[in-house]
Amino acid sequence: MEVFTTVKEMKAYVRAVKQRRETICLVPTMGYLHKGHTDLMRMGRGLADHLVISIFVNPTQFGPKEDLAKYPRDFERDSRLAEEVGVECIFYPETLEMYPPGYATYVNVEEITETLCGLSRPTHFRGVTTVVAKLFNIVEPDVSVFGEKDYQQLTVIRKMVKDLDMNVRVVSHPTVREDDGLAMSSRNRYLSPSQRKNALVLIGSLRRARELVRGGEHDAAKIQAMAVDMISSTPECAVDYVEIVDPDTLCPVDRIDGRAVMALAVKVGSTRLIDNAELK
Ligand code: AMP
Repeated sequence: MEVFTTVKEMKAYVRAVKQRRETICLVPTMGYLHKGHTDLMRMGRGLADHLVISIFVNPTQFGPKEDLAKYPRDFERDSRLAEEVGVECIFYPETLEMYPPGYATYVNVEEITETLCGLSRPTHFRGVTTVVAKLFNIVEPDVSVFGEKDYQQLTVIRKMVKDLDMNVRVVSHPTVREDDGLAMSSRNRYLSPSQRKNALVLIGSLRRARELVRGGEHDAAKIQAMAVDMISSTPECAVDYVEIVDPDTLCPVDRIDGRAVMALAVKVGSTRLIDNAELK
């Protein structure tokens, strides 16, 4: 497995692959890999001739009061896991390699970035789309895999690719969960044992919402109120948002008739967790 830290090295590898008319799958990550990431990589392995991942804790997607400095990092462990999964190459740049002095260009998807997570993280998606656009330009992947756990991110990236006519196929992977249902996340390590237990209210409220819909409830406001209630009455948990939205536009829906997604963000102690589920 190769590790490239510069754009120049990464582009030389890509040029060689393209000359042989072979294909590349890219799985972008911020590292501290868990099974959620490695399952994306396993999926990616089957989608192209070469599997490239990136590990980059992207500063532009963190707000000034967020956890950039303490975001967990362990490159040794990450590279071991990546090699086991069959990753051929890791792009692992320093911040200055991606954002040299004088850097001034940003990609911004409008509207769908202004709801849900965009409300409490107003600069987040601009950072995500900027770094993903840069990664697509550097690695030139034919296909790229993103997790459904970050549902709004997936939707925003699909929109960017479509609007900017990018030559990459975006493939999604279902949310990978712990045995008890908690969505895997690098941030779960911040949780104390009691917070870890209380965090199950995220999946608990999504499951309850599904049951209600299966039982014939179509009123989105009622389901939303149930979830807000469940979360607010759980110790150490505070609702950031609970929304039931159209899966493509992310606009709120009043009635659940066709496809709808319930998306939520909850502060458990000082850790902000997100999750979502399709309600049919
Ligand atoms: P991150 O390192 O958190 O930026 O995530 C990198 C990629 O892994 C993104 O496409 C995430 O959506 C995806 N991912 C993270 N956690 C999970 C999970 N539990 N299930 C599925 N995909 C995930």
